[in-house]
This record gives sequence, structure tokens and C-alpha cells, in this order.
Amino acid sequence: MTEKRYPRCARCPVEICGNWGKKASDGPPSLEKTPAFCPMRLMPEVISEAVLEYDKPDVKEFARLASVQEFECYEHLPEGLRTKTPRVEELIQFARKCGYKRLGIAFCGGLMNEAGMLTDVLENKGFEVVSVMCKAGAVPKERIGIRDDEKISGPGNWETMCSPITQAEIMNRSDVDLAIMLGLCIGHDTLFIKYCRVPMTVLAVKDRVFGHNPMAALYLSASPYYGRLRTKAE
Ligand code: SF4
Repeated sequence: MTEKRYPRCARCPVEICGNWGKKASDGPPSLEKTPAFCPMRLMPEVISEAVLEYDKPDVKEFARLASVQEFECYEHLPEGLRTKTPRVEELIQFARKCGYKRLGIAFCGGLMNEAGMLTDVLENKGFEVVSVMCKAGAVPKERIGIRDDEKISGPGNWETMCSPITQAEIMNRSDVDLAIMLGLCIGHDTLFIKYCRVPMTVLAVKDRVFGHNPMAALYLSASPYYGRLRTKAE
């Protein structure tokens, strides 16, 4: 069987790129032990080209601030390294680092309460907060070809389509410094990301079962409760 030749870091037995536990004086890791599917072997020119982007001063500064933010989420205690910052606080800290004043929340209608809470939090920290719900525009689902029998509330009812493109365009035209996705559905989030032209980040993704924490299903996939995730497709 020929070996699959495309990057598969998730299957890596060595993770040499991380150079974990090494001193700076040891220099960069040797690539000799990297697997054949390692992107450092398969696509070195792509990596070099991508890294050149950091020569742009604004990109370099943004990347630097992101790494400083990452650093500040840990504390070194006598008993070891500990995490200390939940993502919502990270969001506030990072937005301040970047000098952002006006934030935008693109949220799902199912997270109206959460959008209000996030607005409270951000306004209390001094930000101006624009927010747009997915249903803004009140366009019926028929506009994108949804049939009556495909409506969640049942045939014969009005259902407003989610319009992440509308959300993105409103963010683009509202002079927000940073757009924040809050609980958009799969696919709707894809469209939002595609059309959003201002810097954006994600506070939460939609998971109707696990309180918007999709990782819970992955963690439970090692137990009988969600072991079905690991069974091979026919
Ligand atoms: S970049 Fe290479 S060494 Fe690093 S995790 Fe991917 S395959 Fe492994």
C-alpha cells in the first residue's frame, strides 16, 4: 500500500516541531526523525513563504500580541505551570492589548441571553458593543430553497433563515475593530468567516447537546456514552 502523502500532524509520533523541553541554545530540531507525512518535509517552500508574512509590521505586531496573550494565560507556581484565564477574559485582555474600542458580536438567536450577558461584560469593561443576530433581515427560509417539510417548527409555519452573510456585512460596515462569533451553527459559521472582512475571533461554537462545548463529545468518545463516534463508517 502506498503511503498517503499529505500533512497529517494529528498522526505524528514525534512532534519534533514543538522542540518541547529543549533549551534555546540547543537550536532548532533536526528534521531527520520527522515522519514522511510531515508538512516540514512535504511543503517546506509553503512554510518559508508563510513565515515571510510576519515581516509585515502589522502582522508581526498582531502575532506578537497574540503570543504575549498566550503567555499571560499561565502562571509559574512552585507546584508547576497553571492556567489562569478563561477565554472570555482572554478576549477582553487581547482586545485591550490591540487597542480595540468597538467590538461586534455575531450571535445565534438561540444564544440571545448569552449575547446579552457578553454585551454586559464587554460594556462594563469599557468597550462599545455592536451586535447582530443571525435572523436579522427577517428573510424567510424559502429564499434559500428550504421546503415546508424541512422547517424546524413544522410545515405551514414562518421560519426566518439564518443569514451569516448579513451578519458579516453588518460587521464590515459598522467599523468594529474585532468581530466575535457567538454560537453560530456549523455552515453558518463557515459563511460568516468567508464574508467577514474585519478581524474576527470565536468565543463559542454551537453545540446544542453539550452546552456549546463540542469537545465534550470527543472526550466522551472514549467511553460507551459516545463510543459511536469511533465506529467505522460502512
Ligand atoms: S510538523 Fe512534522 S514533526 Fe511536527 S507534528 Fe507535524 S508531522 Fe510531526
